[in-house]
Amino acid sequence: MSIAGNLQHVSASLPDHVTLIAVSKTKPDELIMEAYDAGQKDFGENYVQELADKQARLPKDIRWHFIGHLQSNKVKYIAPFVHLVHSVDSLKLLQEINKQALKNNRTIDCLLQVHIAQEDTKFGFSFGECKALLESADYKALGNVRLKGLMGMASNTAQETQVAREFSGLQAFFNDLKALYPFLEELSMGMSGDYQLAVKNGSTMIRVGSSIFGERSYPAKD
Ligand SMILES: *Cc1c(COP(=O)(O)O)cnc(C)c1O
Repeated sequence: MSIAGNLQHVSASLPDHVTLIAVSKTKPDELIMEAYDAGQKDFGENYVQELADKQARLPKDIRWHFIGHLQSNKVKYIAPFVHLVHSVDSLKLLQEINKQALKNNRTIDCLLQVHIAQEDTKFGFSFGECKALLESADYKALGNVRLKGLMGMASNTAQETQVAREFSGLQAFFNDLKALYPFLEELSMGMSGDYQLAVKNGSTMIRVGSSIFGERSYPAKD
């Protein structure tokens, strides 16, 4: 199927309130433009240099989502334009995003990445750490970042019950937090293999790569 056909296929199954982010990491400009010309405006990338290069070359109305592990010393390269950072996994990183946002005279929207998978290779906060961060004076002192919600990645397993348990756990936590902090609106969860399950469990943003652009030729998961 074509990229336009793939996009349509994925979108057709989504409720209106769910944003589809096309994950274009490792993919060339031509394929991104195919998706763009089919109407896709939200794209996700994992690597700072790759994202900065693509942003410079591609249409300026693309909303670029950063979804990979972000090192503090690289924030400055994406701060001028990034639409949403999904992968905030430390206070130090959030403070650096705030600093670079201020330098660029803007406010940067962010999600806290929550660790829900069994593998311990994945980054992210525990539920308790998320809550503590939101309550902290350190966070409240940051005037140029806006926390918009949470992001999670389920275990990389074919066991659907395990993935469903992780998604529903994050949904329950998100709903509890939202009752305290109504500005939390977005729950970013779901990839090519599990987005339907994620949407059933309250996802508002899905990050889909291979189901749109085809398999990647080199591993690109941080
Ligand atoms: C690569 C990646 C995706 C997309 O993965 P697919 O399986 O290709 O859909 C989604 N989220 C994150 C954080 C990723 O790194």
